[in-house]
Amino acid sequence: MSEAPYSTSEGAGSVVTLKPRERVELLGKTVDELAELVAEVGEKPFRARQLYAAIYRRRLTSFAAMTDLPARLREQLAARAVVTNTGVKSIFTSADGTRRFLLELGDGREVEAVFMPEERRDTVCISSQVGCPLACDFCMTGVLGLKRNMTAAEIVSQIVVVLNEVYGEGARPVKATGITKVGSSISGREKVRQPRDERHPLNVVMMGMGEPLLNYDAAMRAVRLFADEKGLAIPPRRVTLSTAGIVPRIDELAKEAVRPHLAISLTAANDELRDRLFPINRKYPLAELMAACRRFPLTDRERLTFEYVMLEGVNDSDRDARDLARLLNGIRAKVNLIPHNPAPELPYKATPMARILAFQKILTDADVRSFIRRPRGQDIAAACGQLAARHEASA
Ligand code: SAH
Repeated sequence: MSEAPYSTSEGAGSVVTLKPRERVELLGKTVDELAELVAEVGEKPFRARQLYAAIYRRRLTSFAAMTDLPARLREQLAARAVVTNTGVKSIFTSADGTRRFLLELGDGREVEAVFMPEERRDTVCISSQVGCPLACDFCMTGVLGLKRNMTAAEIVSQIVVVLNEVYGEGARPVKATGITKVGSSISGREKVRQPRDERHPLNVVMMGMGEPLLNYDAAMRAVRLFADEKGLAIPPRRVTLSTAGIVPRIDELAKEAVRPHLAISLTAANDELRDRLFPINRKYPLAELMAACRRFPLTDRERLTFEYVMLEGVNDSDRDARDLARLLNGIRAKVNLIPHNPAPELPYKATPMARILAFQKILTDADVRSFIRRPRGQDIAAACGQLAARHEASA
């Protein structure tokens, strides 16, 4: 039998160097789990709190940079652990500022995360599975099939790796580097913004590769780690989890003490069409999905988001708009109309903007609130539904 990690046979203070692949990944661990690790090398619990702050709040990825820890502990940690095994393989930058990150996980599998800067907030879109089992007919990730679930550590690592590239590693959230001038006031004093302070918050959307509700425990563990104010400090109201409609998991999510905002990828307002676009609809048809949405407990001003990908000649008629309005009747809903992002492998075309506007007008007249989502990063295959771990920029 191989030697157990953290074996104390040589005494708590000795350095046992593990092979790189055997080293424990720290991102993804709670402070209590870090405390166990720290205790095994004979250090006091407060060191775990320092380590926790170092990896989540300061986003340090090398032990050498954690200069508030004693050199001996840093050496111990470096021999047995890594902060993360996730590495950046390529970064593609769009004309609109969107950046697509092709990430390599510890076992060589690849996933993608997307960073979208905006005037009033930045958004990171993260993956929850390597590939996806749902095979939705209009989504590139579905073409890949499922390779495997991501661990909580891997899900969380996407945020740390992306923010370090964008804001700089080791920067404390509020004092992060990369201050951007966003305009001048009339008095000539320049307004500056810093990433990640209250005026320029960070949103996280679990809308990358995969179906987060089919990797429920890891996704929720990641959400709880995001939320910790002593760590990444991304509150759940700034996190949106998107699902194609795994009904029992929606009910489970409803019971969570710490839960993200929920978005449903609807895209079809009748079962005949939805069965065709979303194979999962045959298991959880619209009546069941909408019933789960109706019983989902919303907080005071919260709305459920419904994503509706506009596919030309498929789901964009006046009648489809009226069906959608009827389906959402009585639900505190917000609809995101998403122009379809095409790919050569996908058999659909995007609805022209004039038709999207006509569709939206019908929703508005029926008192359904909706927004038209601006496509981001289409030129680098970073837009919704285009994530397929491509090594080149365009689809
Ligand atoms: N499995 C989850 C998470 C992936 S989210 C879900 O289905 O919600 C990906 C979002 O992008 C979904 O809202 C989906 O409807 C949308 N999408 C997928 N393919 C698309 C495409 N080709 N163009 C535009 N949006 C697409």
